[in-house]
Amino acid sequence: MAIITTAGTRFADAVYADRLRRVTTEASARGIGALLVTPSADYGYLLGYRAPALERLTCLILPVGGAPALVVPRLEEPLARNSLGGLGDALEIVPWGETDDPFRLVSARLDGALRVGLQDQMWSRFVLQLQALLDPAELVDASPAIGAVRRIKQPEEVERLRASAAAADAAMRAITAERLSGRTEAEVSRRINELLLAAGHDAADFAIVGSGPNSASPHHEPGERVIASGDAVVLDIGGTRAGYCSDTTRTAFVGEPPPDFAALYEVLRLAQAAGCASVAPGVPARDVDRAARRIIEEAGYGDGILHRTGHGIGVEVHEEPYIVATNDEPLVAGNAFSVEPGIYIAGRWGARIEDIVVCTDAGGERLNTTSTELAVVA
Ligand code: ZN
Ligand code: ZN
Ligand code: ZN
Repeated sequence: MAIITTAGTRFADAVYADRLRRVTTEASARGIGALLVTPSADYGYLLGYRAPALERLTCLILPVGGAPALVVPRLEEPLARNSLGGLGDALEIVPWGETDDPFRLVSARLDGALRVGLQDQMWSRFVLQLQALLDPAELVDASPAIGAVRRIKQPEEVERLRASAAAADAAMRAITAERLSGRTEAEVSRRINELLLAAGHDAADFAIVGSGPNSASPHHEPGERVIASGDAVVLDIGGTRAGYCSDTTRTAFVGEPPPDFAALYEVLRLAQAAGCASVAPGVPARDVDRAARRIIEEAGYGDGILHRTGHGIGVEVHEEPYIVATNDEPLVAGNAFSVEPGIYIAGRWGARIEDIVVCTDAGGERLNTTSTELAVVA
């Protein structure tokens, strides 16, 4: 994962102070006495900067009843202090030298918690050391507590997602206005990366280009296939802007689409619109999946569904809530996620349409604004 400097992209210190407060409240509600968060998307979300994930332990300690602390290698203390700004005053910063034992510094700040939540991507070498040192404390997954806060976007986060979506839309409009035939998938993918950056992303994260039979492979790796007339082309692109991700898919067709592809695409367009229209507070996430899936199944393309309808998005491109048949969690205002049904006919062609949708009190709001009509390209 890229280390993104946060100059100019940090929210006000109060935003992070509030996040720290809310995750400890969620931890407390789950009987957890303290959270330990090592460098990760969670760490960046909570503190507003991405610390490097290295062999030297960096760990944010959030005891439910006590003061937060940050154990950092002494050589990274300047980075932490510079990045934290005023938030640094609300944290005890505990630098450790090369001969210190950072795990003892952590355990001394846990207030004797008997249930400790660990960030879910913490390296096993850290987990094993903590397990030995904290015995008999129970170590549990911190992600339910942190995820409960991350999955509800505050207005300032929705603004970031909107700006990121607008940048992806600009790149999508640009690439679907270009000639695709005669270029390889890999060339078009590299071009999309340029367009994502030119449109304002800080990082271009992915540009899937699946042409012809490759359009039937949802996560196709763009290769040396030369795009030609008669190809469906699935373009799934995204990047990161000011710490928030974009992710959008449009399907193009090179030349006039034959009637059977046009028919398949119209079913998909209705299904994706139905998924978006079903979004409202209180609606179980699985119902959004169902709304899209039903239309595809009823039109006879059910065998062409290969993946869930969507995923949450925020500081990571895939996060909670997942829009999947098994998720009965009700949506709430502030949830942000993709609605991206696809129909894939192996060996022949495929299509996908993907928008980021925010659940608001008034229903679902699409952040992507490009037309969902089939893009006919040269
Ligand atoms: Zn995917
Ligand atoms: Zn996508
Ligand atoms: Zn997606």
